[in-house]
Amino acid sequence: MNIKTDLEWLLPELIEEAKFFTNAEGLEILHRHKKSENFDDEIEINGKIYSYSSPADFADETEKKRYEKRYAKLALYKALSDYLSEKLPWGALTGIRPVKFAYCEGENWRAEMGEVLGVSDKKLDLVSRIINAQRGIYEIKDGNCDLFVGIPFCPSRCLYCSFVSSEIGKAKDVEGYVSALVKEIAAAKPLIKNLRSVYIGGGTPVSLSISQLSRVLDAIGEVNCEYTVEAGRPDAISDDALRLFKDYGVTRVCVNPQTFNDETLKIIGRKHTAKDIEEKFESVKKYGFDVNMDLIAGLPGESFEDFKRSVEKAAALSPENLTVHTLSLKKGSILKEKVERLPSGEIEKMIDFSVEKLTESGYEPYYTYRQKYMAGNLENTGYTKAGKACVYNVDVMEEIADNLACGANAVSKKLFIRENRIERYGAPKDIATYIEKIDRIIDEKNELFLKNG
Ligand code: SF4
Repeated sequence: MNIKTDLEWLLPELIEEAKFFTNAEGLEILHRHKKSENFDDEIEINGKIYSYSSPADFADETEKKRYEKRYAKLALYKALSDYLSEKLPWGALTGIRPVKFAYCEGENWRAEMGEVLGVSDKKLDLVSRIINAQRGIYEIKDGNCDLFVGIPFCPSRCLYCSFVSSEIGKAKDVEGYVSALVKEIAAAKPLIKNLRSVYIGGGTPVSLSISQLSRVLDAIGEVNCEYTVEAGRPDAISDDALRLFKDYGVTRVCVNPQTFNDETLKIIGRKHTAKDIEEKFESVKKYGFDVNMDLIAGLPGESFEDFKRSVEKAAALSPENLTVHTLSLKKGSILKEKVERLPSGEIEKMIDFSVEKLTESGYEPYYTYRQKYMAGNLENTGYTKAGKACVYNVDVMEEIADNLACGANAVSKKLFIRENRIERYGAPKDIATYIEKIDRIIDEKNELFLKNG
């Protein structure tokens, strides 16, 4: 496939969008854009010309660019959809937060997403169910905030991982990292007004030693709201760690199997079996934690039947939350080097099955997001049992509360509600740089959070 456009800055996104179509390989595509009274976009595919005209109604340069992008992508979607007789589940909707898009569109969201952007009824129903499930949690209010604490270490590296996480056995200065993190948490606490949740994520937080974990939990201190630890890989969760979490008031633990297929676990670089996952799940439940489990659709070598068995197994264990991811082949993952394309039809069947099976098992979808490079242009969806939706996930996905994020590569967000904008602060990815610059990081983050909105 070869794409040319006169909006050069948009080329990578147009290529990405076209790649979601199964048969776009080998096409010669030209995009021409001009602004008269309207935005006129012309798409030429192997000599066949499609023309579209959309209202050029914008307040400033930023909005102009946003609409240029939206209409050019919409034109490409419509032209490819017609040329290849293929529709995509999310139509021409781009961006990672479909539910946030719906909230922003207001009462008209269904028409805007369905009729204008071509989102399928199936996905519109998903968005509608999520909006319902978020009732009682969804709230935009000054001072609402969540605290995130990042531990970028893992026992070993998973094949599909693109996250900046180091193997704990090879990491140089874990103690130094914990010290810098503890300092950052202590400096963040006075900035908290109305804390809605705490989330210790990774990496795999339980790859730290018990004494290192205690230092982190001590720094966080007493928590009187939802408190999650993404324990992650079952092979790293110990009884000592679970007891420690209980003592510090943790309420929710993530145990992430990804699959219950032993063969696949080996292929993706996990050093545990499906049986270990079940045993670990039982021990986590013994402590009375709510549990989240992650599954991935589209793992290498997995058939629909393999995935179906994993969903059935997870539903039978009946954790409070279940998250179904679609494999995303991101740059930086070992898998990206090995697999170029995954069959999207098969993955769509997997995702459809998970919706059906989990609904039947008493779960409701409560958040969803999309990523780049996702197989079949699908999504990741979190499911919950009634009354157990994770506040942190809703706040982060819909961007409705400040996020005070501590740790290397952590991105803090401060909402300026009246100005309808968000400012971000990203800490350095590199652990040595993070340790070295911790005082500056604290100062810069303080400055952001002390600004008046
Ligand atoms: S556990 Fe998560 S962060 Fe760690 S290597 Fe695997 S995918 Fe990456």
